[in-house]
Amino acid sequence: LHADEFRRQGRLVVDFIADYYDRIDEYPVRPAVLPGFLTRQLPETAPPQPEHDALAAALRDVRDLILPGLTHWQSPRHFAHFAATASNVGALGEALAAGLNINPFTWAASPAATELEVVVTDWFGKALHLPENLLFSGGGGGTLLGTSCEAMLCTIVAARDRKLAEIGEERIGDLVVYCSDQTHFSFQKAARIAGIRKVNCRAIPTSWESNFTLSPKALLAAVRADVAAGRVPLFLCATVGTTPTAAVDPVRELCAALSGAGHDDVWVHVDAAYAGAASVCPEFRDAIIEGVEAADSFSTNPHKWLMANMDCCALWVTRPHALTEALGTDHDVILKEDHHHQHGDGAAAVVDYKDWQVALSRRFRALKLWLVLRCHGVDGLRAFVRSHVRMAKAFEDMMRADARFEVPVPRQFALVCFRLRPPPALVLLRRNRKLLEAVNATGRAYMSCAVVGGVYVLRCAIGNSLTEDHHIQEAWRVVQEQATAVLAAAGR
Ligand code: PLP
Repeated sequence: LHADEFRRQGRLVVDFIADYYDRIDEYPVRPAVLPGFLTRQLPETAPPQPEHDALAAALRDVRDLILPGLTHWQSPRHFAHFAATASNVGALGEALAAGLNINPFTWAASPAATELEVVVTDWFGKALHLPENLLFSGGGGGTLLGTSCEAMLCTIVAARDRKLAEIGEERIGDLVVYCSDQTHFSFQKAARIAGIRKVNCRAIPTSWESNFTLSPKALLAAVRADVAAGRVPLFLCATVGTTPTAAVDPVRELCAALSGAGHDDVWVHVDAAYAGAASVCPEFRDAIIEGVEAADSFSTNPHKWLMANMDCCALWVTRPHALTEALGTDHDVILKEDHHHQHGDGAAAVVDYKDWQVALSRRFRALKLWLVLRCHGVDGLRAFVRSHVRMAKAFEDMMRADARFEVPVPRQFALVCFRLRPPPALVLLRRNRKLLEAVNATGRAYMSCAVVGGVYVLRCAIGNSLTEDHHIQEAWRVVQEQATAVLAAAGR
């Protein structure tokens, strides 16, 4: 680390990124490359000696070899999956954290980093209108992890250990977790890592009638059947903004159904990975956090829709103690000594975030989220979310005006699911798949797909920082043109 050299190299990299954003709209969103294309172009071994002017040479390779092989997630024409939104301060916050390169696993390991995370998770929770019991100020508390999958894993482990302490460790095979068939697959993965048997993961079917939300009645029926069979209901993952269609599970009714039937010890986690962001807007707040005060934990990814560059998942729990009981480690003499030296025997309790997560080491994510909140303000975040919802509505309106298309499930937030209309189902499926391939092959828009209720739909998820109205209009033109071609090829 040489300060002057860092300044010189830093400028190269910042200019490179700025040039990239200047030109990003010109790149085909998805690259037209085949497997192995990059491997073939790079040497088989690392250079034994530093290359001459290595950073500049590497940046040229990034420009000439790497960029052509990237899917441009920050392209204003990227409408696939859910966005991974970026902002200047999100990127620079990452740079700042990387530059400081600290490892705040305990309070003592970097006091200001830990305290900033405590402050920022409360700030962010308040901006999302979360109930007080999830915030430090109300006895709960938040942490910043990398992904929703980690949030699910940590909370399942907390629930598991709490339950096993009550019923005995030998009964781990009886524990059952619940979700819907729309819940992100990472939930079942997390459950399996936590030692829940595969046969004890209940993915309860949803239907068109309920717009693919989890029915409290169906949940209760599943719970009752498990209890009758001697199994132990452990955990429910409700989703606010499912991955296929952004459906919102009725959290209030689900919690009420559980507690009404005497199962309020089931840990309820609310996965709001995508849609949680919209709770900054009062008009969406009720849809997202209604009933959350009865849940045990809530997570959302500000890297998805709130400009906090990858990666950042905020998790709040009502009982931090349950997390730290399960994930806490107190065996390391070095850490203990460090802790003791810094705040002695009788000091006030501090947060040691290593006890809230899987790993010991951790990144200084709070810095980035703090910058985003300070530099955009909550009003700025609201305007950001609203602009995408408005654009999604415009896309939906254009689509509804063309009789060849239908929007089979209601648009939620900034996600529009659509398909070509006419039956028969099998032909339709192939045509819609062809339509998606054709749209994406243009390079002028990139969308993804889902299958809901046996029906194949295209997904247009709007959420990138650079997306403007004209990109939406062009995306719609691309869809129309390609639909005309696909239907013509099919003889219609
Ligand atoms: N939950 C939902 C609703 C999602 O949409 C996603 C990903 O898109 C996830 C969880 C997984 O998120 P992560 O990649 O942060 O684990």
